[in-house]
Amino acid sequence: MIIHVHIKTSKKDLTNSIASYIITITVIVIGEYMEQQRHSKKRTAIYELLCQTKSHPTAEWVYLQLKPQFPSLSLGTVYSNLAAFQSAGKIICVGTVAGKERFDADTSDHAHFICRRCNAVFDVCDAPAPDVPLPGIADGSKVSYYGVCKDCLNR
Ligand SMILES: [Zn+2]
Ligand SMILES: [Zn+2]
Repeated sequence: MIIHVHIKTSKKDLTNSIASYIITITVIVIGEYMEQQRHSKKRTAIYELLCQTKSHPTAEWVYLQLKPQFPSLSLGTVYSNLAAFQSAGKIICVGTVAGKERFDADTSDHAHFICRRCNAVFDVCDAPAPDVPLPGIADGSKVSYYGVCKDCLNR
């Protein structure tokens, strides 16, 4: 059995459907634009927060700080942005402290002191470069000292 369906399209219908098509596309484009804006606002906020702190925070800390401002923020978004900043060379990972990666927006050459008791990470400027024979020419180093910080010693 063959069913023939005849669709009669008048000029007016065609104009209407083109108009609704254009409106749909416009709505999608604006939606995507706003989504991108939301993403870039989050990205900027994550980077600025890292620039404002000297605490070498974890991804969780960043997430908890920004969640009130961005209710739709997920921990996964924070992680992926941190990874993107890292590969762009905008931030560095200082190391893993108590199983959690710690991040630093200060990419200048500096060493760190990590407290084993409170897990605080401090900047150590002017740390002497290790005077050891290297099997090549080094163009950077990542020095971390471990110990107990003054606050913990006085406690
Ligand atoms: Zn400490
Ligand atoms: Zn640092």
